[in-house]
Amino acid sequence: MKLFQPKYSDGQRLTLSNGQTLRLSVNRRARRLSVRIDARAGEAVAIAPTPNTLAQAVAFARSRADWIAERLQAQPDTVPLIPGQVITYLGRTLRLEATGGAGAARLCETPEGPVLRSGGEGEAYARRIENWFKREARRFLETRTAVHLNTLGQGPVRISIVDTRSRWGSCSPHNRSIRYSWRVIMAPEAVADYLAAHEVAHLVRADHSPEYWAVVTRLIGDHRPMRRWLKDHGNALHAVGT
Ligand SMILES: [Zn+2]
Repeated sequence: MKLFQPKYSDGQRLTLSNGQTLRLSVNRRARRLSVRIDARAGEAVAIAPTPNTLAQAVAFARSRADWIAERLQAQPDTVPLIPGQVITYLGRTLRLEATGGAGAARLCETPEGPVLRSGGEGEAYARRIENWFKREARRFLETRTAVHLNTLGQGPVRISIVDTRSRWGSCSPHNRSIRYSWRVIMAPEAVADYLAAHEVAHLVRADHSPEYWAVVTRLIGDHRPMRRWLKDHGNALHAVGT
């Protein structure tokens, strides 16, 4: 019998044997213990369904310390929003340029391809670029949301553009509101459209049952390539501008 069972709590951080940081998280919707990588925070997260099972989640994470170290080292470098940087926009590459002055960012087509030009310096420059991406995300996602709502005979919803770390979007059927991560606007167009279809389909079914996926298929056809794309490349989008 153990007299001193360590007490763990939600949000607590531990250091693993190889120096990596492990954050503890209680998620009541989780069905089992799991470990995931938080690329932006540069740490691993141990997830347990209840506070009482956190100790088991920690033991599980410790048993996977090598895998965690490998995955954290494989994370892409951060991509600062500075002049000369190349960013993707709906899958197209876009070069960032500085114009001097204080003007807002605007997209210009040049013989060398699309260029995003903006005023501002340092953080002010980065903020203007990020604001441009957020505006474009809202425009694109509002349009695609309206198309999918129409297909399903659904009324309007309230749309928010956010910068969440752990999810690309969420839907609250009760409040008729949908939240999207602006970062999806850097993905290919079909992937960003998949996200809109994914959240709109939740107005019909809140779960991820076969019936739910049938609604998504009705909206965009085969959704598997887009889901795979997000899984494979999502981390890279989270490394932009951080
Ligand atoms: Zn979902």
